[in-house]
Amino acid sequence: MQYVSTRAAKAAASQAPQQFSDILLGGLAPDGGLYLPAEYPQVSGAELDAWRKLSYADLAFEILKKFATDIPEADLKKLTKKTYTAEVYRNVRKGEKSADITPLRILEQDGDKTLILQALSNGPTLAFKDMAMQLLGNLFEYTLAKDGAELNIFGATSGDTGSAAEYAMRGKKGIRVFMLSPHKKMSAFQSAQMFSLQDPNIFNIAVEGVFDDCQDLVKAVSNDLPFKAKQKIGTVNSINWARVVAQVVYYFRGYLAATTDNAQKVSFTVPSGNFGNICAGHIARMMGLPIDRLVAATNENDVLDEFFRTGVYRVRKSAETYHTSSPSMDISKASNFERFIYDLVGRDAERVRALFHKVETEGGFDLSGKPGSDGDEFKLVSNYGFSSGKSTHKDRLDTIRDVQDDFDITIDTHTADGIKVARQYMAPGVPMIVLETALAAKFNETILDALGVDAERPPGFEDIESLPQKFVVMPADVVQMQAYIAANTGL
Ligand SMILES: *Cc1c(COP(=O)(O)O)cnc(C)c1O
Repeated sequence: MQYVSTRAAKAAASQAPQQFSDILLGGLAPDGGLYLPAEYPQVSGAELDAWRKLSYADLAFEILKKFATDIPEADLKKLTKKTYTAEVYRNVRKGEKSADITPLRILEQDGDKTLILQALSNGPTLAFKDMAMQLLGNLFEYTLAKDGAELNIFGATSGDTGSAAEYAMRGKKGIRVFMLSPHKKMSAFQSAQMFSLQDPNIFNIAVEGVFDDCQDLVKAVSNDLPFKAKQKIGTVNSINWARVVAQVVYYFRGYLAATTDNAQKVSFTVPSGNFGNICAGHIARMMGLPIDRLVAATNENDVLDEFFRTGVYRVRKSAETYHTSSPSMDISKASNFERFIYDLVGRDAERVRALFHKVETEGGFDLSGKPGSDGDEFKLVSNYGFSSGKSTHKDRLDTIRDVQDDFDITIDTHTADGIKVARQYMAPGVPMIVLETALAAKFNETILDALGVDAERPPGFEDIESLPQKFVVMPADVVQMQAYIAANTGL
């Protein structure tokens, strides 16, 4: 399996092909594009049938081996077995089994309309980012060990990504994590999750500033190429290809668990921000998984909903990005969206380059086909099954209450956005699976507002805020940051 950049110039096609391991530790392609397989591997009906009886780990192996053809199969099998265990994905609700890894629960069956919740947040940090990040930790450790190499992961977080990365990388040989977060701006639960880690390879840096200051520091350090090379700096952000592939697996799993034969179609609704999660759904569909609709649910930050309604992609400035009660979807620019646009414009890398140049210079592009627009490919979007909808703070509170009253389950705010939007797209004979992207305990402030009681905490999290914390506070200063990293890597 070879990988191409969504912006590769024609001449670059003759360059050395990239394999899975080549792009595993990197982020953007050198030309600024994102990596995708040169073509999507296809899954036959016979394969799907055979996969119905597999464990999650074995299913992950079958799918990953189509993408990571340069990793020996026996090694890949060990890695998936080590990652997807009942011990790691143990935070299940009553009536669910942790061995299922992503258990399904039917919420509603009304005639031939079915609404299903697929839990993706049973991992160590109670959010779906664990699904991919846990695999990434094991893949990184495996790849680095082969050449005795080291990697220093440097990133910024406003919540879920940082903790998922730290729990995936803690104690891993050859890896250190330096994670910036805005000092005193995260919820008490989120800070406690990260700062209570005492592992010597985890470095929490609370920056005196806001999340944007943290991101600016990461950019400044990443642009200092000699420092980056000497300190072996890498990232684990949502454009990482291995993260996307790991997420493809649970679409197959959800489909297989909700159906009994391959003539049946299902739809998925996905609480979306950076378009990483739903991009994996798109890839599953391109591989032949019988998905009817892929519904992107956004909060008030409706960049994606606007595109799927109008064909206009218009990124927002920081000042126009709202802080909402589903904060992990507060994005102004969907970093994985370019992968879908590449397919939508017929894999024409020059078009993609021009369109995303326009995003940088003019803040967006318009594929509506109207006079003066940049193209008319919006008319093709429905061929890919995409739909969308938007949910607001009030919708979130109402949905959390309704789901509690009707089904006796507490859902988190992001999942509430998903359920609100999913209801608009329920179709007879096509089960609708909503991906649950976090557990309610993570966003307790809003649960209290909605229900008047605290969200239930899974075992082990009861007193997390009172555990000893390990972190340093630093000003938003590049020179001090670099000195801190160098002092702790010894490189
Ligand atoms: C990251 C995150 C999302 C958004 O996922 P994308 O891949 O960025 O679209 C939704 N919900 C939760 C809880 C998250 O942590």
